[in-house]
Amino acid sequence: MTGLHRALFLDRDGVINVDKGYVCLPEAIEWIPGVAEAIHYANSLNYRVIVISNQSGVARGYFMENDVKSLHEWMSRELQRSGALIDAFYYCPHHPDFGGPCDCRKPEPGLYLRAARDFNLRLSECLAVGDKPRDVDSARRAGIPAHLFSGGDLHKFLVPLLRP
Ligand SMILES: [Zn+2]
Repeated sequence: MTGLHRALFLDRDGVINVDKGYVCLPEAIEWIPGVAEAIHYANSLNYRVIVISNQSGVARGYFMENDVKSLHEWMSRELQRSGALIDAFYYCPHHPDFGGPCDCRKPEPGLYLRAARDFNLRLSECLAVGDKPRDVDSARRAGIPAHLFSGGDLHKFLVPLLRP
């Protein structure tokens, strides 16, 4: 796996699917326009595509970690049918009010750093996209150039940002 040292980091709720609050079932997934096209495009440029999200619904008892994993497997399969490959999902199941602080909940940079180790990434060559300031802050704290996505078509948003 040499040569793949960069990644496109995407937040999940609000960037890949519409943020309806504590989404945990496939029925609740409404895709953001252009998401499969955007991921396919990143794949074609040899970016790893890695999803980084806070899923405090686990700590709050709204759903189980297995529900999160099942949903991510379902999302992967659905996107693959459109030719879009997600290399990995990382999520923080914690919340400071329910079990204490952790180093992985955004705005902490822990999940990006874990992914960087797992995939041997050069963080300055990566790109992160999120819909909340904490997404952008956490990525920048990890040394990743980051951009705020405020809705619309994700593919159109990413084309000028990804480098061949
Ligand atoms: Zn955490």
